[in-house]
Parts: sequence; structure tokens; C-alpha cells
Amino acid sequence: MKVSQDLVSDVAEVLLTEEQIAAKVAELGQRITADYAGHELTLVSVLKGSLPFMADLMRRISLPVRIDLMEVSSYGGNATESSGLVRILKDLSAPIEGRDVLLVEDIIDTGLTLNYLLRYLKGKNPRSIKVCSLLDKPARRLVEFPLDYVGFEIPDAFVVGYGLDFGEVYRNLRFVGVLRPEAYES
Ligand code: 5GP
Repeated sequence: MKVSQDLVSDVAEVLLTEEQIAAKVAELGQRITADYAGHELTLVSVLKGSLPFMADLMRRISLPVRIDLMEVSSYGGNATESSGLVRILKDLSAPIEGRDVLLVEDIIDTGLTLNYLLRYLKGKNPRSIKVCSLLDKPARRLVEFPLDYVGFEIPDAFVVGYGLDFGEVYRNLRFVGVLRPEAYES
């Protein structure tokens, strides 16, 4: 894999600009603040891809918020395909029993990862659990479930930036874009 020093030259198309993302995150934060008025909320984000979204979203929610982080890896797939077999690399650090939980995700593709996580977290008896994903790729969905908050529906393309990686690189791009084919092939 050959990565350009400036990262941006590996991008064929910008799907979502920094400004579009910021406006959407602010809007989601307002909706969440209104919907959970009078409640304490626990935001659970899934490393590493959701990190920038979580950091920006939590500062747009004007409620008492706790945060927790999980890390999962799917195995048996490849760099651009999820397999649905999920391994927990880092678990929650505090109980969520009786709490209102909002799972903060970067992208829902097949839905297999989220399906696993939702079942796992429901087993910990939260008072409620909802999902907030910045990106949704409905074209490839294999498991259906309600997505309570979605930032953007995007076409069936492998995207990088704003937390999303290819081979662990490109997470620090401030926009979401599609890579040039050369960046995959080399
Ligand atoms: P799912 O289980 O829904 O198929 O996949 C979810 C995970 O796969 C995401 O959390 C993300 O890590 C990865 N993923 C799915 N689509 C993309 C994509 O277009 N770009 C990147 N970088 N990761 C993706």
C-alpha cells in the first residue's frame, strides 16, 4: 500500500465536506438533546472509526452525558468487507444497567457488527438503547434494525476520512471521501 504524504491526493472524490459534517453533527446533537430532555445519557462509541464523530457529537449535546468506549474487530473478512464475526477487544468500563444508552457508530454497512453489538449491550439491561450513525450504506444491508439517528445515507462505495480508515491510514482526513483505485491496488 502506497500512501501519499498529503493523503488528500489519494482521494478521488470528496463525498462530504468538513462543513457538511459539522452542520449535520450540530443538527443531530440538537435532536438528541431534545429527545432525551430530562434524562442522563450514556454515549457508547466503538473505536476506532467513531472517535472524531463521538468527540464532536458529545459537545453538541447539552445534557449530562457519560461516555464509554468499546473496541471490536471483525475477523474472517478482508480490508473492505466485514464478516459479521465480531471479537470484543475492549469492553465497557462501567455498567449500563438501567441507563439510557446511545450507541455512536461511524458507518453501518451490512449491519452485522451493529447487530452483534446491540444484542450484546441489550444483555446488560440498559433502560433504553438507540443507535446514532454518521453514515449509512443501506444498499449493502444484510440485517435490518431501526436506526434512530443517521447523518447521511451514502452510495455503495468504500469511504475514508473523519475516522474511517483504509489499512489504518486516512482516519485524520477532515472530510469523507472515496479513494482512488491506485490507493487500493498498490
Ligand atoms: P458492517 O458490520 O455494518 O458491515 O460494517 C461496519 C464496520 O465496517 C464499520 O464500523 C467500519 O469499521 C467498516 N466499514 C464499513 N464500510 C466501510 C467503509 O466504506 N469505509 C471504511 N473505512 N470502513 C467501513
